[in-house]
Amino acid sequence: MAVYPASVCDTVLEIYTDQNLTNRIYINDDFNGLTFSRVEAQFTRNTSYYIKLRTFQTTHNLRTRIFIRDVSMATQSWHWVNSNKRVAWAGRTVYNNELNSAISKLNNYKPQLIQPSIGTETKITNIIDRHIDSGWAGLATSNGEIVLSTIVMPTLNNNQRTNIIAHEFGHILGMEHNEVYDLMWSAAANYLSSWSLSRNDKKTIDYLLNVY
Ligand SMILES: [Zn+2]
Repeated sequence: MAVYPASVCDTVLEIYTDQNLTNRIYINDDFNGLTFSRVEAQFTRNTSYYIKLRTFQTTHNLRTRIFIRDVSMATQSWHWVNSNKRVAWAGRTVYNNELNSAISKLNNYKPQLIQPSIGTETKITNIIDRHIDSGWAGLATSNGEIVLSTIVMPTLNNNQRTNIIAHEFGHILGMEHNEVYDLMWSAAANYLSSWSLSRNDKKTIDYLLNVY
């Protein structure tokens, strides 16, 4: 669940477990460097939570809107995960350091989730560079290919390139774009300077590996 107001003033959003507002479990002032506030959290079913929304400066009037939305996992109709619940990859890219960093990020959560192919798997994800400018830096296809653009990738920094490759592996794992500021946010790869797996990323990976 995400709770976030869009505001015309500098808001602070707090979540409490008690109506006396003594036990605060979440607080956010400026989300992503903006004056609006956003809290993304996992809540327990049939449990009451208390939301306090205020201005940052106590002399200001509160003028805002509040949205509460479920932003849980989004999944695709296809994936390229093998029966041993691993992704085997082959191919090559000039962005080899970033490829290794991206794989490490995912494997830090699930050891050996992404492995080099030994050649006998039924599904092998092929990494390939293409001199193509269609606006995207990376693309994952339903037949198990990760294409990296040698025109767009050089315009990004190392972190962004790593995020692009990890994001494409997210598609290979069966993850779809979502609106959480995490691995599968459609713009994450372009705009997040650094990034680690969110709770939603992890929940989605767990769910998918369970149903495959
Ligand atoms: Zn994508």
